[in-house]
Amino acid sequence: MLVLNYLEIILLKKRIAVIGSGVSGLTLANELSNFWDVTVFEKSSGVGGRMATRTMHPFEFDHGAQFFTARTEVFKKFLAPFIDQEIVTTWSPKIISLEKGKKSFKRLWFEPHFIAQPKMTNLAKSLSKSLNIHLNTKIDKVCKKNSRWSLLDNDEVVGEGFDWIVFSAPAPQIREIFNFSSINFEGLEDVNYLPCFSLMLGFKSDITLNFNAALVKDSPINWISMNSSKPGRERFKTLVIHSHNNWAHKNLKMELSQVQDMLFTELKSLIGSSCSNFDHIDTHSWRYAKNVVSAGREFFKDDTLKIGLCGDWCRGDRIEDAFLSGKGLAMELMKI
Ligand SMILES: Cc1cc2nc3c(=O)[nH]c(=O)nc-3n(C[C@H](O)[C@H](O)[C@H](O)COP(=O)(O)OP(=O)(O)OC[C@H]3O[C@@H](n4cnc5c(N)ncnc54)[C@H](O)[C@@H]3O)c2cc1C
Repeated sequence: MLVLNYLEIILLKKRIAVIGSGVSGLTLANELSNFWDVTVFEKSSGVGGRMATRTMHPFEFDHGAQFFTARTEVFKKFLAPFIDQEIVTTWSPKIISLEKGKKSFKRLWFEPHFIAQPKMTNLAKSLSKSLNIHLNTKIDKVCKKNSRWSLLDNDEVVGEGFDWIVFSAPAPQIREIFNFSSINFEGLEDVNYLPCFSLMLGFKSDITLNFNAALVKDSPINWISMNSSKPGRERFKTLVIHSHNNWAHKNLKMELSQVQDMLFTELKSLIGSSCSNFDHIDTHSWRYAKNVVSAGREFFKDDTLKIGLCGDWCRGDRIEDAFLSGKGLAMELMKI
């Protein structure tokens, strides 16, 4: 009878490198981690990707994804234990439509809108608990040695001996790595994103608005949310404002300080000057915020190269798309 000891089992495990620790990369890494030897490489100092929270003590801002919906059974099933543990909960804001010179009106949401609490990054943190993750490591090149993959950051090898690599970054960032590595995937070229600016305001004193969230029409601003109205964030009042994606596209090269001034002036004209009483102001530019041309498929997998690609951009522009892409690719890899 063949009896394998622990070391032999480890040695038999396939080794995989996952580039990116957003929802898609972490979903895939988690699914595979019981069967494969998984290492995640992330260029930022924290996990979560665009499901992000910026801390500017004492304020915290969910300056990326605002909430997420769950429309498929597989995503609902995945969320259930996180809801039980109160890592994920629903947000039911008073939401309105806002347009200058017009009377605002209340909007209705017809499905649950989920958030992680007490901040958006907490779902990613929870998913990454038992994973081997290298933060602050930007992979800019990959190459094959003796049919195994090596990964490089600034010409320094940061990982080697991998059977497979999965790229889970936005498609244009994957293309940058492939340009240096002469790899090509048909269909990747067409994928396109629009940018977004996030304006963040923190208040130590009170600020009162007659809404928790607003969808804005006909303005450089697309979305205003009282971020502190989300469960678990009540201590200090915080506002998160998102620019319109097309406005950000037109003004992408503008100085961030100028973008901030323009968005703040627009905000005052929409909600009044009570927002001038802020204790913190900050702006972030998301170069790849919203996928506008997707690949129209769940994921990419090349068995000859031993490369997989996943991310929201494979099938859409939302957190659920990122989850489904990562999960779908993991299920396929487990068949190998
Ligand atoms: C402003 C904004 C608002 C949004 N609002 C919503 C919303 O309300 N609801 C919703 O469902 N979705 C929303 N989204 C979209 C949602 O955030 C994304 O669909 C989802 O988070 C994408 O996950 P991902 O894993 O595909 O990619 P990402 O989250 O982008 O993760 C990719 C990761 O790869 C890392 N990376 C990139 N290149 C490299 C490299 N070379 N080496 C190492 N690491 C690398 C990045 O740092 C990042 O952590 C919003 C996004 C933005 C920006």
